[in-house]
Amino acid sequence: MIETVEIDEPLSLEDHAQIVHLAEAVRFLREQAAALLPRLRGRRVWMINSTARGGGVAEMLPKVVALLRELGVPTEWAVMGSREPEFFVLTKRLHNLIHGHGDPLLTEEEHSLYAAVSAENAGAMKRRLERDDILVIHDPQPLGMGAQLKRELGIPTVFRCHIGLDERTPETRAAWRFLRPFAEDCDHSIFSAPEYVPGFLSDQSDVIHPAIDPMSFKNRPLSATKLAGILCNAGLMVSSEPVVPLSFAEAATRLAPDGSFAPIDARTDIGLLFRPIVTQISRWDRLKGWKPLLDAFVRLKSGRFTKRAGIADRHRRRLELVRLVLAGPDPAAVADDPEAQEVLRELIDSYRDLPPSLMQDVAVISLPMASRKQNALMVNALQLCSSVIVQNSLREGFGLTVTEGMWKHGAILGSRACGIRQQIRDGIDGRLVQDAEDPDELAQLLDEMLEDLPARARWGQSAQLRVHDQFLVFAQVRRWLEVLAERADPSAPV
Ligand code: UDP
Repeated sequence: MIETVEIDEPLSLEDHAQIVHLAEAVRFLREQAAALLPRLRGRRVWMINSTARGGGVAEMLPKVVALLRELGVPTEWAVMGSREPEFFVLTKRLHNLIHGHGDPLLTEEEHSLYAAVSAENAGAMKRRLERDDILVIHDPQPLGMGAQLKRELGIPTVFRCHIGLDERTPETRAAWRFLRPFAEDCDHSIFSAPEYVPGFLSDQSDVIHPAIDPMSFKNRPLSATKLAGILCNAGLMVSSEPVVPLSFAEAATRLAPDGSFAPIDARTDIGLLFRPIVTQISRWDRLKGWKPLLDAFVRLKSGRFTKRAGIADRHRRRLELVRLVLAGPDPAAVADDPEAQEVLRELIDSYRDLPPSLMQDVAVISLPMASRKQNALMVNALQLCSSVIVQNSLREGFGLTVTEGMWKHGAILGSRACGIRQQIRDGIDGRLVQDAEDPDELAQLLDEMLEDLPARARWGQSAQLRVHDQFLVFAQVRRWLEVLAERADPSAPV
């Protein structure tokens, strides 16, 4: 079952080239493309994954495909499928095992199922392929199919694995034992960090970091009035001034002391745009380190910080005013995820245990998911009005929230989880906490970061530059061109 996906990208490369802070990145991409395109002449690239919607891969592929096409590399996006729901149970299991979770025992039946679905999809895909095509296989679902096509047709095949763990455990070993024969059949593999490359692929792999689209609704610049308009229309802020209405399908809501989520009103307004704000936006996942962050904020507000000897009046006032925003998806939208429900329930309980004055200073926010565009604008607006953007993950594959915050020249406080380490250099692009589960250390760093305005500006500037150079979609397409040219013409010097 193979389906090709139509691409409908609103902005062309030329549109991006007209934007002053993107012109340089586009120019560099075009320059690199001009050098590499002769090696790709006559080639067509197939990006193959297992879903057209949902998840980071489906989010980024349209942009990458559109840019490759515009640069002159014919590129198609195909989605594999199966009528066997058990196949996706198995591939979800493999996904979790690669992240170190789940039962490592993979049965004979599971091997047979994977082989059967891979063969069926390879058969369907074969009819669409030509001799000069290049395959890029995204993640384990289509890997078996890609390996079979490689074996049968001999066309260049690259395995792009978007997941990984910087540890070797019985679970990760089991997953890679299962996938190894297929991954080894491919000519090359791409991972998001060097730590994720399994040993047996170390001499046939490269790293391409995930990337963001700088003009997406989540990352585009917003003028002050647009920002205020989004905050008000999204229900994140109450203003006495009228604003031009935007039709937001649903408003954000804030956790109330009774444990329900309620619309924000004048009494429960957070003070966005006026107060110092510390923000974390993530899924309701235990590994995102919500609880230690909340505990750290409680400490930051205690007399130990606010009444310490020698504190400057201005900073004391800042600590009195600062508020914490913990934002994640509307619980109704993740009703089918029992773990998310449990993590949110625990956070709600911790919130309800806070003294009333602190409850006012902590805003647990539910972001509606009905419209992707509106959700993205809310995330954008919240990140833009944050003094410090935190990503306190205990584990993180990459952490696009970090990239998003860096691009907005935010001051980022991250953990040392593998993905975050790839992005933030401690003391250069932001700060990294040694131990994400230590609220004292987190509180200390928050205090230092809030106090040091010049350093925040410096980190933000450096962070934005780093994203510009390495983590924008243009850099990603540049890397793809290198990898594809190398596959198309392995004998040419790189
Ligand atoms: N996100 C969002 N709305 C939410 C929570 C998260 O749009 O309510 C986005 C966030 O902006 C980021 C993505 O979800 O783009 C999360 O990606 P990340 O790599 O940070 O973590 P993951 O969820 O993949 O573990």
